[in-house]
Amino acid sequence: MYFHVRIKPHWKEDTVSALEISCITNRTVSAGEVMAARIKELVTVPFCPMDHLRFSDDLGEVPFESRDGDPEMSFVFREFYRAERDIQGELRISYLVAPRIQPEGYRSSPYFDLVAEKGGVLGSGTTFLLHPPMMDELTDYQLVWDLSALPEGCQGVWTYGCGDIKKEQISVQTILFSAYMTGKINSVENDCAGFYWFDTLPFDGERGAAEITRLFRYMAEMFHDKGGDYRVFTRHNQFPGSGGTAFPRSYIYGYGLHDEVTLEDLQSLLAHEMVHNWPHLSDDPAGLGTWYVEGSAEYYSTLVPMEMGLWSPEKTAEVINEKAGSYFSNPMNHLSNMELGKLYWKDRRCQRVPYSRGMIYLSGLDAAIRRNTGGTRTLLDLEVKLLELPNPVPEDFLRIGGEIAGFDLRPGYEKMCAGGMMEPDPEAFGGRFTVTPCRVRLDNSQHRGDEEFLDETAPGYRWTVKEC
Ligand SMILES: [Zn+2]
Repeated sequence: MYFHVRIKPHWKEDTVSALEISCITNRTVSAGEVMAARIKELVTVPFCPMDHLRFSDDLGEVPFESRDGDPEMSFVFREFYRAERDIQGELRISYLVAPRIQPEGYRSSPYFDLVAEKGGVLGSGTTFLLHPPMMDELTDYQLVWDLSALPEGCQGVWTYGCGDIKKEQISVQTILFSAYMTGKINSVENDCAGFYWFDTLPFDGERGAAEITRLFRYMAEMFHDKGGDYRVFTRHNQFPGSGGTAFPRSYIYGYGLHDEVTLEDLQSLLAHEMVHNWPHLSDDPAGLGTWYVEGSAEYYSTLVPMEMGLWSPEKTAEVINEKAGSYFSNPMNHLSNMELGKLYWKDRRCQRVPYSRGMIYLSGLDAAIRRNTGGTRTLLDLEVKLLELPNPVPEDFLRIGGEIAGFDLRPGYEKMCAGGMMEPDPEAFGGRFTVTPCRVRLDNSQHRGDEEFLDETAPGYRWTVKEC
């Protein structure tokens, strides 16, 4: 099967105002079958405003009927287009999308939405691409940018390459869950990594790109990366606060309108998002593997900058207190992993729990593995081994973990899953910190980086650098 997409951006008032999209596929479709789909809503982010949708083939216009499908993984809502007659030859899909206008007061991620800023648009395929209906179906994909309506010097860049590009046998999911950027793009590209932004940055772009490349090389070696480029796309948000959304081999980094962003802030976020290229554990149903995916990202994004000498132990202690310490101040930390999974998109306090819970658990597990194996094995051995499986589940984690650690991981794992108080391992994070019990004030804020302290306190911990 092939699926070709041609994107023609329109230009107005210093930005891309719309995308004219035409797709061609040779997928066979008979009368009554679904010929295409679109994600109407993904974790509360809607599909872009769409117009002039038309399906055609060798016989002309294809009449169709559309219907909403059942929710997938409880947060993907798709609309399916059914052909009312057999398709003759290639199916052609054409439509126009406008970038999403975020609602008043909106300040959120993930950055799946296609949003315009001065210079152009950036977003993921999820919110503007109609696609063949089976997410895991493989297809030969061809992406063509028609830049004829844009000013001179404009570009189109996708997670997997700049300009027109062909990728053989990739999944529909990969086509959707990847970043697309077009307009007046500034970029710095090194051998394995690229950095892209519109207009101006609040820090030096060249230095940003150099940091990305350094971090990427280090982590790629750690996780035994199998090769391929890595791209970081920058979004200038209309709301305060920085954040990022990771895709395989790329991520969209966003910073706030009036924020003072430093290279150090970028590094911190970058490290977290970059780890997402590797550790994976099934998260279906939501909550099953979030603690592992986000916990690993939090853990290694704290450890790696210290190991690379980018952060002092003092700075690292500060980061551990902020990341792991936030577990104890979160009023929702009594909920189990699966209870949290049901509430992620209703109550964002719940969304943050698996990050800190996973980080405390995994950092402690690393210390325990090192103790039990005389320092010959580590958590990283387990993480790398899990990467050999296509879609590992918690049982794989427990089995492989047990083989590597030489002890049963299940009791500790089950305690972590159940939620409630967690005791940090005093030898975690390379044994360079002292952990002291303390009282913390509960923080009711919905978004990371915000503070909304309650009068109530709870037991917690503080990390300080060990005196040698
Ligand atoms: Zn993450």
